[in-house]
Parts: sequence; structure tokens; C-alpha cells
Amino acid sequence: MNIAERARREAEIARMIAIVAACRRCEIGSTRRNSVFGEGDPCAALMVVGEGPGETEDKLGRPFVGRAGELLDKMLLAIGLPREDVFICNTVKCRPTIDVGHRLANRAPTPDEMRNCRPYLDEQIALIRPRVILALGAPAAKSFLGERFSISRQRGQWHEGPLGIPIIATFHPAYVLRQTGGAMNEVKRLVWNDLKQVRDRIVRIDEAAAEPAASQDSLFEGAPRANT
Ligand code: URA
Repeated sequence: MNIAERARREAEIARMIAIVAACRRCEIGSTRRNSVFGEGDPCAALMVVGEGPGETEDKLGRPFVGRAGELLDKMLLAIGLPREDVFICNTVKCRPTIDVGHRLANRAPTPDEMRNCRPYLDEQIALIRPRVILALGAPAAKSFLGERFSISRQRGQWHEGPLGIPIIATFHPAYVLRQTGGAMNEVKRLVWNDLKQVRDRIVRIDEAAAEPAASQDSLFEGAPRANT
């Protein structure tokens, strides 16, 4: 990616962050502390989409920075992708909460909240144009693949996502952390298989993109070099 294009994307992201911060389409726009736009490489090969910010994310204005985030970082590193090389965001940019008397607890975003926030996610996808999208957990997967999507039966399968971008879903790291003993090992094994698919797909797409240039080079193998 050339420097000018990277700079253009960074400027676009700064513009979008300000719009999201001012958004009050949902009630949670007024109850959250910080909007959580998302962060990472604006030219990332992989976009990770989670459900919505939790308490720590709301406090810091950054996605996946709590316990689930720590596990996500490890998962990404395991496929050779440091967090900063990926773009990480959520289906909703404000923390969905429920008043449980003495405090506000996290809750899943409502369909209305996801619908209101969808244009921002679509803009992020259109700007970054990742080679692959990874949806974490059922709400994120359903937001792309429909209400009938079953995370336990359909995770690990490729689908066509927005703008024709390949999308795959796996279990949310928070779900992995809720498991114990053998169940946790089994869920980790499934997530690992899904992540290897992500890595392999990105490698294949990159190889295919490099191919025309390589075969052009071979056309001119042995030909005398022009003096430059
Ligand atoms: N869970 C999510 O889905 N997103 C975050 O940003 C953090 C936790």
C-alpha cells in the first residue's frame, strides 16, 4: 500500500471517529463514556468484528482491551498477526448496558442498535477493504450472515460478506474464557482450526495477487535489460 493511500485512509478514519463520537442514534450513545470506533492498520488484510464494547473498552475508548482482548491478541499472534497489523472493531460502537441496581452491566446489543450502527461498520469495511473478515461470536456473525446463523454449527465455514469479502465466524474469546476443563480445550481447538483457515486464506489471496506480476517477470526472463 503506498504512503499516500495510507494517509488518505488515516484521515478518513479520523473524520469517521468524530462522526461516531457525536452520534446519538441510540440511547446507549448517551449512556456510554467513550465511543469505541475501532483501531488498527487502515490497510489491514484482516478485519476482526466483535459484538460491542464492554466496560474496559468503554473506559478506554478502545476495542478488545479487557480479558477477552488479551486472549484475542494471543489468538492473532498465533497466526502470525500482531494486533497492530489487524483492524479490530465491533458491530456497535457504544457500550450496551443494563441497569442492575447498583451498577451498569454489559448486555448484547439490540437489533435496533446494530441496525443504527451498521452504516459505520459498512464504511469501515469499504475504506479498509480487508482481504478477510473474522466475525467473533454469534451476534457479530448474525449481523453479517442472518438471524438463522448458528455459531456452533456454522463457524469455521466461509461465506461471502459485504463487498464480496470472504467472511468466517468463530467463537468469541469471552465465550472461550467462560469454558472450563475439557470443554475449554475443545473450544480452543475449534477456534485454532478456524484461525488457521483465516491465515491460509489470506496467504492464498496474497499469492494470487502476486501471481500476474511474477508471470509477467518470467515473460521477460533472459531478455536484455534496458539501460535506465
Ligand atoms: N467484546 C467485544 O465483542 N468487543 C470488545 O471490544 C470487547 C469485548
